[in-house]
Amino acid sequence: MSEALNPFKIAQQQLDAAAERLGLDAATHELLRWPMQELKVTLPVRMDDGSTRIFHGFRVAHNTARGPAKGGLRWHPDETIDTVRALATWMTWKTAVVDLPLGGGKGGVVCNPKALSAAEKERLARAYVRAVARALGSTRDVPAPDVYTTPQIMAWMLDEYETISGEKQPGVITGKPLPLGGSAGREDATGRGGVYVLREAAKALSINLAGATLAIQGLGNVGRHAALLAESILGLKIVAAADETGGVYNARGLNARQLVDYVALHGGVAGYPEGDFLTNEELFAVEATVLVPAALESVITEKNADQLRCRLCLELANGPSTPEADRILEEKGIPVIPDFLANAGGVTVSYFEQVQNAYNFFWTLKDVHNRLDDQMTQAFNGVFEMHRREKVNLRQAAYLVSVARVAEACKLRGWV
Ligand code: NAD
Repeated sequence: MSEALNPFKIAQQQLDAAAERLGLDAATHELLRWPMQELKVTLPVRMDDGSTRIFHGFRVAHNTARGPAKGGLRWHPDETIDTVRALATWMTWKTAVVDLPLGGGKGGVVCNPKALSAAEKERLARAYVRAVARALGSTRDVPAPDVYTTPQIMAWMLDEYETISGEKQPGVITGKPLPLGGSAGREDATGRGGVYVLREAAKALSINLAGATLAIQGLGNVGRHAALLAESILGLKIVAAADETGGVYNARGLNARQLVDYVALHGGVAGYPEGDFLTNEELFAVEATVLVPAALESVITEKNADQLRCRLCLELANGPSTPEADRILEEKGIPVIPDFLANAGGVTVSYFEQVQNAYNFFWTLKDVHNRLDDQMTQAFNGVFEMHRREKVNLRQAAYLVSVARVAEACKLRGWV
């Protein structure tokens, strides 16, 4: 990975800019540049053919001044300690921007889950929990699903943790299946939260969403719900979609439900018959009102930022734009709703799940949706007001809100 695209370096640069603007003292700034705890684990896992494979994993807590670390677990072949550090850092800002009493954490295992059987995935999930259990706990660090991890994987992890601790502790992990204490509305929470933020952003920026179009990269857990809900709640027309298998374009609009069902059946967008073939790269140059990167980090860079032809970019993936791309988009006048604000719906409903677990009392889907809407609307409005007041772009405004909150908590604790 080049230094320019190293997500952790990017996360540090973004913080540096906010720290300077806020006039943070040197100690607070340095504290916030680094994760407070990192675990690197090596996991021997028995494979179905009787051999043993060695996997490498990480669990990182960036900052816990505002509450226990909170963040997903990724299983991806390109995972590195630096991607996990970056994602943990962004979780700190994310929980702060929606004002949740949580810190930032993240985990990862270097693996290709598509090449693992269900039994191998279960053994890997359990091995990971055994290795990092001492760092986990509802008052320490709480994982959740992220790229290529699922509610089933969360269920195995919960079971392993409870076996080790000898007691039921559903709040140790979120994104669980409903029968094990999951929350209604968790599955589509990230996409739904993004759609609520998009609605508010369009109002604030005077972008008319009637007849508006959308191009999206990634139709996984986040992207698929975002596409469905952007269509059903806001009436957007999806004109382009792409994922790691390829993409499709149709100026007349793609039916979100049919597209999502096709991806579920065929494992990707490639070959979807109701449009023209599009490469992953071409997606970013499609003319659409809203562009939604919902796959991986560093996909909008200095190489393609100039080609974007959207009115607004809604970052549902974590870290999809590099700082250089940000600069170009600002020059082009394309507002970017930053990742840790746009995709905070997932962690918000994860927090709701923890609250329900603590009370052993569960909310209705309607309650979850209403509370999520309130929380996301309030978070967006806070960031937008900062953007207006300080005359900075939306990402910088979100940083100013979050970093100030986390810095204040560190000071109140007497850490700096
Ligand atoms: P997922 O595993 O369900 O889906 C990943 C999607 O990305 C798939 O459509 C896949 O085909 C696509 N993809 C993978 N590699 C690609 C490539 N090289 N080019 C194009 N597309 C590629 O993951 P997810 O949970 O939907 O997460 C997507 C993004 O959203 C990630 O950045 C994740 O960190 C972020 N996020 C997820 C959540 C959550 O609740 N799941 C919350 C906040 C942020």
